[in-house]
Amino acid sequence: MNTYGQVAARILTHLVTESACCRRDLAQVLHVSKASVSRTVAPLLDSGLVHEGDPVEREEGGPGRRTVPLSVRPDCAYLVGTDLEGGLLRACVLNACREVVAGELYQVDGTWPVDRLLQEWRELIERVVEKAAVPRERIAALGGGLPGVVAHRGFSTRAVLPPGHWTELDATEPLTTLGVPSTVANNVLCVSEFEQRIGMAQGEPAFLSILARYGLGAVLYVDGRQLAGSDHFAGEFGHMRLFEDGPLCSCGKRGCLDVRASGRTLPDMTDLGYAERQSVLRDRAQALGCGIANMVKMFQPPMVLLNGVYTPYGEQFRPLLAEAIEGEFGSLPLARPRLVFGQQVEYKTAIGAALRAGVQFLPQYFADQLAER
Ligand SMILES: [Zn+2]
Repeated sequence: MNTYGQVAARILTHLVTESACCRRDLAQVLHVSKASVSRTVAPLLDSGLVHEGDPVEREEGGPGRRTVPLSVRPDCAYLVGTDLEGGLLRACVLNACREVVAGELYQVDGTWPVDRLLQEWRELIERVVEKAAVPRERIAALGGGLPGVVAHRGFSTRAVLPPGHWTELDATEPLTTLGVPSTVANNVLCVSEFEQRIGMAQGEPAFLSILARYGLGAVLYVDGRQLAGSDHFAGEFGHMRLFEDGPLCSCGKRGCLDVRASGRTLPDMTDLGYAERQSVLRDRAQALGCGIANMVKMFQPPMVLLNGVYTPYGEQFRPLLAEAIEGEFGSLPLARPRLVFGQQVEYKTAIGAALRAGVQFLPQYFADQLAER
């Protein structure tokens, strides 16, 4: 592969998996010269693969600070994203401008055996791809999000699934059904990938990202990268044991944060009045605030980003959570993190999973496409 093809494939990948970007920023993030970026972009513009947007003023202002954002043609590649969490399967198809072309939510029945779940998942992915009606050869990759402790290699996890049993789940069949390169990660990593690339954490080098859905996961980003062991990631925030003599948790221990703050144990809020809801949310904020404050005391992330089941109650929940975190600091003179709620975006985890797969597989996909031209 020649240098032009390599740089072009990296530029195209970056334009798909991040927000629109100018030549100067591309040169900086891809560690190549601005001249090389300009040389490579010219034929991409000629071929119509890349478009120039209207010039914009850079935030730092001043003369000569107008830049031209570049974007890719929406149909030059598609990514499939899908995730399983608690009682729901989600799948969507993204175009190269990160727009959802087709998507579907599918309710899982907790009484199904694993085989049935995997079969329904495979059919859901095939249905959504069918609905998207895009050329199959343009589907570059599939990314999946899984709950629980995801194996380092392959597509399996060990997770608590409804109605609350530990389940060994090997999702190889649904996630490889399209015959495109595929990858999988824990759901909290997928949602954080969304936030970091196109959501609330863009340009934030350090933040604590929490996903409260059926389970309760967390990941810490430092210098723009997730903090993990040498090659493993757990994210099992919910199984921090914080409460003496707390109720029995799904992990077999007592006092876990999961029991008091996860979506699995959240009562149905739809019929609750304001005061009842306030009482439920206050208890949950107390528990979650304790867990968050413990992380903040260690790592001092400037931002804490929360996604999941509390998002719809954000206005009511935020002050309760902020107060609970504050209460945990005692007289420690530590910086208080900004508390940010992720926006409600349907398919957020699936989109994050798709972008994650894009980062990994689009360079080769585009290199092959360019070689064919
Ligand atoms: Zn536990």
